[in-house]
This record gives sequence, structure tokens and C-alpha cells, in this order.
Amino acid sequence: MREFEAVIEEVKRLKSVTCNLCGKTIDASDWQALNTVHQVIIAFSYPSRFDGERWEFDVCDDCVARITQSFVVPVSVKEIL
Ligand SMILES: [Zn+2]
Repeated sequence: MREFEAVIEEVKRLKSVTCNLCGKTIDASDWQALNTVHQVIIAFSYPSRFDGERWEFDVCDDCVARITQSFVVPVSVKEIL
């Protein structure tokens, strides 16, 4: 037999996402707009000058387009469905 007790746990719900580059904020209740802001996570290792650091930031579609247009080598694009 298992006995359970009621507990109250704090749950964190996403409220909004802000593009780190331009500052545009998207309310999390707008899931379509939320899909236009992308989380980027970089875990650096040796011999990177940022070795041991983990960076997390969000970038919107407009900023992704602006950044990647400045690339010397174009982005490799593949369709995902
Ligand atoms: Zn942006």
C-alpha cells in the first residue's frame, strides 16, 4: 500500500521571451509569435577563450536574418517538416 500526501510545488511558467539583440518581447501566450524567437545555447570548451562557460540567449527571426546576412560563408539551409 502506498500513501500519498498533498504538496504544493512552485512551477515556473514561461511568461515572455525577449530577443537579446533588438529587445523585442513576445508574450508566451502567443505561441505563433513565440516560434519567431529562438533560443541559442553555446557550451564552450578548451581551448576556447570562453572555456567552461555556457551562454544562453534568444534571437528573433529579424535579427537572425540580419546576423546571418553578414556571414562570409552562407548559412546551410535544409527544409525540416
Ligand atoms: Zn531581434
